[in-house]
Amino acid sequence: MPKTFLTHSAEETRNLGKKLAREIRQGALVCLSGDLGAGKTTFVQGFLESLGATRPYTSPTFVIMKQYDLPAPVNGIERVYHVDAYRVSAPDLTAIGFTEWCADQRGVVLLEWPERVKNLISREAICINFISKEENEREIIIRRGFL
Ligand code: ADP
Ligand code: MG
Repeated sequence: MPKTFLTHSAEETRNLGKKLAREIRQGALVCLSGDLGAGKTTFVQGFLESLGATRPYTSPTFVIMKQYDLPAPVNGIERVYHVDAYRVSAPDLTAIGFTEWCADQRGVVLLEWPERVKNLISREAICINFISKEENEREIIIRRGFL
């Protein structure tokens, strides 16, 4: 069952990211979809902050993957892999380690632009769609499985 949230500020979206971080399980893959400015990075910032990841929370666009080793484990999670698939193909992403990141039971993978690498996404993935409504309003739909 998808869950739909409406947020009315960046802070509310950050808080939703924090909430997911408190509930996420070891080894999870979280896909983040949505247009530019829809709030993906804002959400990720809340997620990383909640886990105590060391700043800065910079975009992985140019590095493809940015790894955060948490100063202390949270619910068994020791690492977060923040991945941006915008510029890569599925074979490229596999070649640099995507399968291993997903198999890391002490890690969580956050994947932006999952539609670029559809065939790499397991059915158990948590998929989040960010939709801009008004200037400060975003609809955020969280479901299991990639559509
Ligand atoms: P993306 O990573 O999806 O391109 P960002 O998180 O970088 O998006 O940017 C979202 C922008 O929209 C930020 O400037 C943020 O302040 C603004 N904003 C306004 N309302 C919201 C909201 N409800 N949720 C998230 N961001 C919002
Ligand atoms: Mg972004």
